[in-house]
Amino acid sequence: MRIDIITLFDTMCESVLSESIIGRARKKGAIDIRCHQLRDYAFDKHRRVDDSTYGGGMGMLMLAEPIALCFEDIAGQIGQKPHFIYMSPKGKVLTQQKLKELSAYDNICILCGHYEGVDQRVLDRYVDEEISIGDYVLTGGELPALVLTDSLARLQKDVLSDDECFELESHYNGLLEYPQYTKPQCWRGEEIPEVLFSGHHANIEKWRREQSVIETAKKRPDMIASADLSPEERRLAEEIILRQNAQTNGDFDE
Ligand code: SAM
Repeated sequence: MRIDIITLFDTMCESVLSESIIGRARKKGAIDIRCHQLRDYAFDKHRRVDDSTYGGGMGMLMLAEPIALCFEDIAGQIGQKPHFIYMSPKGKVLTQQKLKELSAYDNICILCGHYEGVDQRVLDRYVDEEISIGDYVLTGGELPALVLTDSLARLQKDVLSDDECFELESHYNGLLEYPQYTKPQCWRGEEIPEVLFSGHHANIEKWRREQSVIETAKKRPDMIASADLSPEERRLAEEIILRQNAQTNGDFDE
């Protein structure tokens, strides 16, 4: 997959994306990420990329033309129009399911807004979808674009090593991950669950699955309705949720 990021802060994006797992994946060619400085596509001598909004109001808005020129240049380099995403608090909130859908694209281009946002006309002409990272407002689209790029990159083949497999992690299968432990076996008097050093793989898997259901019911009860659970697991989850609700309402005797 190739990801192109259109931004006013390309060095900020580059520095984050050159580190750790994503940095290593880029070096070995498992993912191709390119950050484009929008000012390089400005057409006046001041390299201006923003102006005041028509109709009055506070703040500046990003100009349509430099964004269009940058996007057209990227599309020309690739030889086709990439799937174009504008990071925006007005967009659909990013989920693991959305990431799975986006993984199907070979080419994704991400636009980071700044100031008050972007001239609507370039969004209407080129943007395929708007994505938000949550119902709050940041000063710019760089952090959201980095969140999207990181979470998307780690789903690509050869980005994670085998022991960092994403399929067992929270949200991938609609549940939260089970609790995990490392050495020492006894930490400040607290032992790890016995089954984990039993060496009995089937029992460990059974325990992990049950703990996943419990963890999800306790921390994200809203996920239980759509989770793929056996009747037994659903009963367990519903019991936990009922108990938790009763405790919250103060009408449960322990
Ligand atoms: N005036 C805009 C509004 O009220 O919808 C907010 C503009 S915000 C200050 C500047 C830029 O930050 C946006 O263009 C967008 O790219 C980015 N941004 C801010 N919050 C975001 C969020 N929750 N998710 C994704 N992008 C966000």
